[in-house]
Amino acid sequence: MSRTISVIENILDANDQIAASNRARLDAAGVYALNFMASPGAGKTSLIEKTVAALKSKFRIAVVEGDLATSLDAERVEAAGVQAVQINTGGGCHLDAVMLQQALDHLDLEAIDLLIVENVGNLVCPSNFKLGTHKSVLVASVPEGDDKPYKYPSMYRGVDAMVLNKTDLLPYINFRLDYFQRGVEALNPGCVLFPISCYTEEGLPEWFDWVSSQMASVLA
Ligand code: MG
Ligand code: ZN
Repeated sequence: MSRTISVIENILDANDQIAASNRARLDAAGVYALNFMASPGAGKTSLIEKTVAALKSKFRIAVVEGDLATSLDAERVEAAGVQAVQINTGGGCHLDAVMLQQALDHLDLEAIDLLIVENVGNLVCPSNFKLGTHKSVLVASVPEGDDKPYKYPSMYRGVDAMVLNKTDLLPYINFRLDYFQRGVEALNPGCVLFPISCYTEEGLPEWFDWVSSQMASVLA
């Protein structure tokens, strides 16, 4: 039993070392990087499209798209007008630091201010694998249900900001916002939470302001 645990720890140690080198590379080039995590269908790519459209005149943005297969999301993001690199994990259920390291090789980091990394849709293991990004953002959504903080505590505990997408569906779904928020607060006290709808665009200006304020560390 203990042997199994030590193997997993070694894998995570090796990953963390590469994550640290990714971070050093990003910092040297003046790139601020966000890691977007979520379950499949929460709206990560939609939020990225909206964020790119709103902020691309202010910051030079690039996107790394992680998916099991296809380049559909990279094509969507490219259509929004920024550089995008697709990582196909070939069935792997999370991104790791080596995958981001390889994606960085395909980007002109000196020409980027903000790098958005879209992790594989999964609420379990992406939170265990550091990538070297500066902050992690969890994109939750109303149709997933209000119990997700309680069921996926390690994901909710480990992020720096949260977005609750699809708030336009609140009138139609039994989603108790106060119950959701209590779960969030218990796991991650003080974590900033943006209720938004990519469909109606409600709440997006506050989210854009948060991203812009994070960029101050790079542009200073
Ligand atoms: Mg996507
Ligand atoms: Zn995984």
